[in-house]
Amino acid sequence: MAVLVTEECIGCGACQSACPFGAIEMPEDKACITDSCTQCGACIDSCPVQAIVRQGESKAVSMDKNEYKNVWVYIEVSEGKLRNVGLELLAEGRKLADAMGQKLAGVLIGDNVEGLTKEIFAAGADTVYLVQAPELARYSTDGYSAVIVDLIKSYKPSVILLGATNDGRDLGPRVACRVGTGLTADCTGLGIDEATGLVAWTRPAFGGNIMATILCPDHRPQMGTVRPSVFKRPVPDYAKSGELIRVPSKVKAEDIRTEFLKLLQVCTGPACNLEEAEIIVSGGRGVGKPENFCYLEDLANVLGASIGASRAAVDAGWKPQMHQIGQTGKTVGPRIYIACGISGAIQHLAGMSSSDIIIAINKDPDAPIFKMADYGIVGDLCEVLPVLTEKFRKIKA
Ligand code: FAD
Repeated sequence: MAVLVTEECIGCGACQSACPFGAIEMPEDKACITDSCTQCGACIDSCPVQAIVRQGESKAVSMDKNEYKNVWVYIEVSEGKLRNVGLELLAEGRKLADAMGQKLAGVLIGDNVEGLTKEIFAAGADTVYLVQAPELARYSTDGYSAVIVDLIKSYKPSVILLGATNDGRDLGPRVACRVGTGLTADCTGLGIDEATGLVAWTRPAFGGNIMATILCPDHRPQMGTVRPSVFKRPVPDYAKSGELIRVPSKVKAEDIRTEFLKLLQVCTGPACNLEEAEIIVSGGRGVGKPENFCYLEDLANVLGASIGASRAAVDAGWKPQMHQIGQTGKTVGPRIYIACGISGAIQHLAGMSSSDIIIAINKDPDAPIFKMADYGIVGDLCEVLPVLTEKFRKIKA
């Protein structure tokens, strides 16, 4: 949001001294913001007469926050199926809604997707807002953001959760900006701030060195994107139903400025979908050299598993970054996580500790990963993995 100087400016120059980017000039004794402005807000804080504001802020601040109620989850659809992250967020959204004494709603957008609403109710939603039209058959920034902005203006939700996926990361900030609110991106934890009753959004900050908890006190809805696999999917209860609100789409084909030509899948291997994998075989520095990943890949092939890696293995160039699991990589929650030659640093655990069963293979019996593991094998992975692979191959035959 652009920073503006209002008529109340008294020309004291406090903002000019406070600006770390030298982006304020004082022609005719009035502050003037130049193109060097990064919108950091230092000038806003420094102004003694509140003469500097963000564009649209006065409108947003004056909103009646009491009008905004209920927790919404944006439900993503891929290849005609609900993506796991939407279900995970419904489970967590349920907790937030219950704590706030409000309802939980899913927002489902697409074409011919009404059949998926059953699953959304089964995952805990009280309400589903369903918007269907041929123009919405595929995700588009223009189409989907127009639909959600329209829904927000009509139904005024208090909280909106989106997955920190490609689409969620594209959609969330655009919607937040259009309705004049803030968004906490890439959260790894959600809670309720006891003092204010607001959603407490937690995310890694400063390269993962600290965890920041962020509140959105002045604007509505409170919005955030949440990493896939941080939360568990709920156990579906298909006896449950709720209110289905069909909202007509106002989006016209000409509103969508992009055209879908072709889907080019840059990555088709199992690593693309680590967040949704049921089994992950993951390698660290203990793998020793890139060629040794063949032991992990052999086991993964037999088990139908995906391949993960620690940051040490990625930094060594043994695996591309898309395989990295941890605080600065992906967050995963498979049924089985097999950690091979990974010591168990806190930053790695941050990305896989919600796995149902953790199996560690490490030649050091004192490696910290064993404290977290359900099953541990002390040994050289180059010897252990071929034996395991052979055993599983026989079981499967
Ligand atoms: P090491 O700690 O070196 O452990 C190697 C292990 O392999 C040892 O336990 C050793 O006993 C065992 N071993 C050696 N040879 C064999 C063998 N032949 N057979 C069996 N076992 C063997 N790390 C991540 O993984 N993901 C992140 O997202 C991440 N983000 C970070 C963010 C920040 C801000 C910082 C500061 C660090 C981050 N790290 C992250 C790095 C993290 O602190 C660790 O350095 C890293 O996880 C260590 O990787 P590793 O376990 O593979 O290597």
